[in-house]
Amino acid sequence: MNAVGAASSGLLIDSHGRVLRDLRVSITDRCNFRCLYCLPETEEAADFYRNRFVPPTKDSAGSTPIQREWKPESKILTYEEIARVVRIFAELGIRKLRLTGGEPLLRREVEKLVGLVSAVPGIDDLALTTNGFLFGKKAQALKAAGLKRISFSMDSLDPENFKRMTGRAGLDEVLAGIRLAQEIGLNPVKVNAVVIRGLNDHEIEALAEFARQHDLSFRFIEFMPLDSKRSWQRDLVVPSREILQRLQARFQLVPVVSDNKSETARRWRFADGRGEIGLIAPVSEPFCGHCNRIRLTADGQIRTCLFSLHEHDLRIRLRSGESDEAVKDFIREVVGHKEDRHHIGEPEFVQPERTMSCIGG
Ligand code: SAM
Ligand code: SF4
Repeated sequence: MNAVGAASSGLLIDSHGRVLRDLRVSITDRCNFRCLYCLPETEEAADFYRNRFVPPTKDSAGSTPIQREWKPESKILTYEEIARVVRIFAELGIRKLRLTGGEPLLRREVEKLVGLVSAVPGIDDLALTTNGFLFGKKAQALKAAGLKRISFSMDSLDPENFKRMTGRAGLDEVLAGIRLAQEIGLNPVKVNAVVIRGLNDHEIEALAEFARQHDLSFRFIEFMPLDSKRSWQRDLVVPSREILQRLQARFQLVPVVSDNKSETARRWRFADGRGEIGLIAPVSEPFCGHCNRIRLTADGQIRTCLFSLHEHDLRIRLRSGESDEAVKDFIREVVGHKEDRHHIGEPEFVQPERTMSCIGG
């Protein structure tokens, strides 16, 4: 459908002609990990960045740590509120829903929420992103509630490095979680790794080999300036094309052609095995032109871009008794202001006040 057709059919269409189909809902801002690229609040993280500190340059995201505070429970949307919002978005043409966080499995009886949103007409793709640590305890209940797909985050296969990167000695739990997800049929299971130069870039080939052996869809993600200490530096980003060159030197890779222009990952499958790899390059090769995403934070703020500097308060509207139609009008207006692109690497770039753990990846 072209942009004009989409607008007349009541779909969400922004001022750049992009039709929004993908909603990401962060259901908590809390987390049981302290990933070095997200919440770098451990001694290991401090050591890593201390040794690499370079004076801020134009490309730096700024060096003042973000004053992060957990939102009180009273400000966090209830499951009923989230389900209502999802239904309203579905009526506006959203088809993909991803539950994320913080760590979504920390939210009490998360399977109840999965049950509520999986029953919303129109949502034909329901996924969840997790660090995997608690997945073993929740797997069956999530599947029974209607979860279709799951993405794990796992940046290292070395227990020591895993702990350094996440602040938690939890590699075994995450590996068991990945196996279990495959066993109960949440396939294809996706695994994400953020690659940081000097930290886990020596593991790129081993991670890809793991994907090949275990039939996983493995995504290598470029480090983005969204961490709580504003420690991001461009030199720490390993560009996707460098990762691809290294993988092509080691494996025979066949491009996976997709006609979904909004897909963020460029994908390859292994010619001689199962599984595939994907490269997500928001820093070196931005894909904003085809972005069809919109985000809702755990405290009910709409964000039209990961790097938005402004949020739009939906919670206040939900809690002041506004009708579905009034909420839809508000969402349409907000979507009209969706940013054309992010400005990482440009002199005017400003890192958002909220971290990835609050926004939801
Ligand atoms: N806690 C869950 C997890 O880690 O999978 C879900 C939330 S986490 C914010 C979602 C995704 O964002 C994860 O795959 C994580 O690796 C990614 N992420 C977090 N900070 C990032 C950063 N600074 N740059 C790139 N990706 C990041
Ligand atoms: Fe790591 Fe996800 Fe927690 Fe951020 S929200 S610290 S990426 S586990």
